[in-house]
Amino acid sequence: MPRLCILLFLLVVALPARAQTLPYLDPSAPVDARVEDLLGRMTLDEKIGQMTQINYQVLNRAGDYSSNAVELVPEKARQLIRDYHIGSFLNGIAIPAEEWFTYGETLQRINMEESRLKIPIIYGMDHVHGTNYITGGTVFPQQINIAATFDTTFATQMGAITARESAFLGHHWNFAPILDLGRNARWPRLYETYGESYEVAARMGAAYVRALQAEQVGPHRMAATLKHYLGYSDPRSGWDRTPADIPSQALYEFFVPSFKAAIDAGALTVMINSGEINGEPVHASHYYLTELLRDELGFEGFAVTDWEDIQRLVNMHHAAENEKEATKMAVDAGIDMSMVPMSVSFAQLLKELVEEGQITEARLDESVRRILRVKFMLGLFEHPMPTRALLANVGAPAHKQAALEAAQASLVLLRNEGDVLPISSGARVLVAGPSANSKRNLSGGWSLEWQGAAEERYPAEMKTVYEALRTALPGSQVSLARETPERFVQQAQNADVIVLVIGEEPYTEGEGNFYDLMLPESQRVLIGHAKATGKPVVGVFVGGRPRPFPDEMNLLDAFVWAGLPGFEGGQAIADVLTGKVNPSGKLPIVYPATTSHVVPYNHKPSEHAVTPRWVSYDFGDGLSYTTFDYENLTLSQQAIGSGENVTATVTLRNTGSRAGTESVLWFLTDDVGRITRPVRELKHFERVTLQPGESRTVTFPITAAHLQYPDAQGRPVLEAGSFTVRVGDDTAQFRLR
Ligand code: BGC
Repeated sequence: MPRLCILLFLLVVALPARAQTLPYLDPSAPVDARVEDLLGRMTLDEKIGQMTQINYQVLNRAGDYSSNAVELVPEKARQLIRDYHIGSFLNGIAIPAEEWFTYGETLQRINMEESRLKIPIIYGMDHVHGTNYITGGTVFPQQINIAATFDTTFATQMGAITARESAFLGHHWNFAPILDLGRNARWPRLYETYGESYEVAARMGAAYVRALQAEQVGPHRMAATLKHYLGYSDPRSGWDRTPADIPSQALYEFFVPSFKAAIDAGALTVMINSGEINGEPVHASHYYLTELLRDELGFEGFAVTDWEDIQRLVNMHHAAENEKEATKMAVDAGIDMSMVPMSVSFAQLLKELVEEGQITEARLDESVRRILRVKFMLGLFEHPMPTRALLANVGAPAHKQAALEAAQASLVLLRNEGDVLPISSGARVLVAGPSANSKRNLSGGWSLEWQGAAEERYPAEMKTVYEALRTALPGSQVSLARETPERFVQQAQNADVIVLVIGEEPYTEGEGNFYDLMLPESQRVLIGHAKATGKPVVGVFVGGRPRPFPDEMNLLDAFVWAGLPGFEGGQAIADVLTGKVNPSGKLPIVYPATTSHVVPYNHKPSEHAVTPRWVSYDFGDGLSYTTFDYENLTLSQQAIGSGENVTATVTLRNTGSRAGTESVLWFLTDDVGRITRPVRELKHFERVTLQPGESRTVTFPITAAHLQYPDAQGRPVLEAGSFTVRVGDDTAQFRLR
């Protein structure tokens, strides 16, 4: 009996109590101490497992990975975790929150049963514009639209709501924000970015990171990912994952600031650019991954590869002879985790490399330390399991309202001849064009599925532009155009205004590569048909990158750039077209007028001297149903010494007859530069709402940080001479002595 008692005592009291005393399991111990303690207990295999990330499809029943279904085969998960100690999984497509809960709970439970040291897995998701991979989740506009609001409040809301709707479901880690600079209209991922301005990307990105990571969702938190570091977005060919040639000076000036700002905001992880810069695949670059990212920019989180990118060092870049050599290259360069993600090859090869002495275990320790640190910081050791009680967070009315307001604020009115907009109640409206009655086109890629989903998959309550207009204009006849041009013309006879919804279908990554930036011919012809009816024509562009149609642009009486406004986008467009909402968005990119001369707004002075009509609409363009005047631009000083600041002040007045919101965009030009200077740079922005007749004074405090630019080594250059400040149509100059 006493023996049994002792055994029982050991099992029930003493052993668990001892486990509790293991330093790494003590939540009150400092994170670094917990990391060191745990690391000291880990085997080589366990360390390698922490550095390995596997895609959800590997856990599916189908052995060939052909199925996109999210179905967890427990034996597969158990085997992977038992044999390879896998520390991270990723991805999926939209399924109901309840199913994500069960999925996350099952997977983590299997992990906690199999993991000798009880190290929780971290699951990564692409909730890149709201919870786009949860059925019934709140789907925000894509980042390009958030940029068009020029208001970081919307980035903050998107970050916070994304965490609130998913962090408790076992989605511990979000692969957002995208901090690539969207300055190449031919690149198929332009819409995932905050557009051309690094100032916008930096402020929006930092706001998103702070909000997403600060959100406490029950006991859960979420980690952000800065992607895709660095120089991914401006490939020479325009196609995804193809080489970029970016001089070091330009990298520092244009591409680094958004990453730097988000690192300073505390981002916990970074995902690496699949491509190459100046002949150097980023995944194999010690310079980019260690010297620049860690030593110079001060990043302390962990770096994950992008999809299959170690294999791609072999089969895409031809930079390594085989995957083993590529694995060594990437780990030597500074990769912490490999998104392998369809096999365990990385784990097997890394083990061989360590056993052969080609990579030291100390090098692995650096990476594992960084990964464990994030797991501790997220509270995963204390709360590894998802929480069912928070299911009602998903798609909460207040969240959808926030997404609607973001979509409304992101729409850009670019043309409104004869005040054809807003459409008055009672007007008969003919709605036409390929996106007139489409849900999928409003939301783009990364919506329910990677490339967007089939129309039937979108929520029943989501409205197309046509459906939303019908509800917005209850007394009016709102009809949808028939297919043939003849019928179209006939139908137009009974309409007072035609709304043409043109643009693109969903795509992302390589699937969005194409041969011609021009708006497809069928759509240009359609504009001609619409104009020929003699009725006023309102064009609405829905798509991920600007598609020029310079000849037909002038046939439109009004034009709205809607970008990809997400699940509330149809409603938002109807609200703007009917005047319920006064448009306030501004273009975060240039809308080019040609397909061969496509340069960003902050190009060099020599870049557009020979092409007078190179843009249809410029960065920062955007009208309202009211009018704003900029008055009395003044500078606090006409000349300053280095170390001194100037304050620019302007009065903004609503000179129209209805309330409206204006984003005040402050541009600065360094008029003469040793390294040629952009024609203008957005340096500050602020969104102001004014009642009719109301005015407000807005300021731009200019400091040395705004006047200097980096040289090729990233060192700040501050040159004496003249600077021009621009706001609205006003300019003022001052000199730096
Ligand atoms: C994309 C990333 C994404 C990852 C995981 C890659 O193909 O480039 O942006 O986060 O897949 O889905």
